[in-house]
Amino acid sequence: MRQPLIAGNWKMHKTAAEGQALAQAIRQGLQTDQVEVVLCPPFTALSAVHAVLHGSSIRLGAQNMHWEDAGAFTGEISPVMLKEWCRYVILGHSERRQHFHEDDEMIRRKVAAALRHGLTPILCVGETLAQREAGETGAVVAAQTRRALEGLTPEQAMGVVIAYEPVWAIGTGRAATGADAEEVIRRWIRGTLAEHFGVEVAQRVRVLYGGSVTPENIAEFVCRPSIDGALVGGASLRAESFLGIIHETA
Ligand code: 13P
Repeated sequence: MRQPLIAGNWKMHKTAAEGQALAQAIRQGLQTDQVEVVLCPPFTALSAVHAVLHGSSIRLGAQNMHWEDAGAFTGEISPVMLKEWCRYVILGHSERRQHFHEDDEMIRRKVAAALRHGLTPILCVGETLAQREAGETGAVVAAQTRRALEGLTPEQAMGVVIAYEPVWAIGTGRAATGADAEEVIRRWIRGTLAEHFGVEVAQRVRVLYGGSVTPENIAEFVCRPSIDGALVGGASLRAESFLGIIHETA
């Protein structure tokens, strides 16, 4: 019922020319239509990658966004600007929370703004190592999920994709176990959705795992009943490894 989704978060990598070449290689190598594929390049490569993906089923996403439509916000990009190019937008990534001090209220505004403009948010939630070691994983993930979606109708909540990305697993080569990610997603993400929006929303929303995903370990996650795919960082920067992850998912 929920279509698998594999999204590549390129982070601050790839020029427009490099992004174009990578997107081309992914487009050419893609051998399935079972999996929805989303590429999230930096803003400066959106236009070039958009041109390469034209006429294919691969979707484009951005990595961040401001919540206002326009205004005096030097250096920011608005949902109105993004929707010329993108269908998706990553919001609340832990790197934004950590390095750029985004809090739950800013992320809530961004999620609402994205939905208002027809963009699908990929909302990232996840605990730090210190929080995990203190036994706070469930409380942190549930609170981040609840606060980001506060004020939405069940219909709006249904249009969000959530990525569970434990901070300690990002870029470390130390992925969570499939069983552990499944437990957090089932109990604390889908559980929170059920509590606030009802069981149907909890069953319909797609939830991804993110953190050191590779072609070798993706099967461990997508075989789980609550996990619908992955948000991939490092391994999305090479066509071969990103395609490997997609084809293992199909
Ligand atoms: P890595 O796959 O490099 O661990 O990054 C995960 C991530 O942060 C995706 O958003």
